Amino acid sequence: MISVHRHPESPASLAKKKSYNGQDVRDQLQEDFFSKCYLCEREVGAEFQVEHFRPKSGYPELKFEWSNLFPACSCNQRRLRWTEQSEVDQQGNPTHFPRGGMLDPAQDNIEARLDQWIEFSATSTKISFMATRSDDPAAANTAKELESIHNSGETGHVKNLRNDIQSYAAYILDRISVYLAEREKPSSRKARELKLQIQGLTHRKAAFAGLIRGYLVRKFDKSILEELGIVF
Ligand SMILES: [Zn+2]
Repeated sequence: MISVHRHPESPASLAKKKSYNGQDVRDQLQEDFFSKCYLCEREVGAEFQVEHFRPKSGYPELKFEWSNLFPACSCNQRRLRWTEQSEVDQQGNPTHFPRGGMLDPAQDNIEARLDQWIEFSATSTKISFMATRSDDPAAANTAKELESIHNSGETGHVKNLRNDIQSYAAYILDRISVYLAEREKPSSRKARELKLQIQGLTHRKAAFAGLIRGYLVRKFDKSILEELGIVF
């Protein structure tokens, strides 16, 4: 997950309160979220769904609220129900949104409040999320939901997502290791090209940027990341 800037103006079609997924809503979400799912940061492509951050069943008044709409892939169907920890509506029924809230990438500083990283071993890959601070329930809830979306069950969604992240991260690691070898050569043009390529692959617009950046920060010395021009 990564912070984004949401366009301050609500798309015009929402004012009619008839549809929450008109073309203007979809286009603006694609632009603001760099065509990625706000949860897993995969390019949404044909799976694009307009997702309600606070579920429309529990918060019908937010069904057409611009700030409550997010672009998602099939992660939309894998969100937690928060049954035991849910907020309740006026009738006392669970709204399926957790008490303590969740991080909103269009409002909160995700990179500061959420630790995200990848653990590679010979036999498995684990995608991990944790609140940076222990007294931040919204970050803890978000970490719990992202953990579930990325790791819970060996479904097609989890396997495909993990494979995509694994190969993307492996490719970036390969590019960085080639760069580190090339930069030793005097005025290497290849080193300069690799640097630009790595900047593109880790840009906030790129797939899995929050996770990949968190991983690189843990793996490499700050001086190398600064040299690569990756500003976190
Ligand atoms: Zn997703």
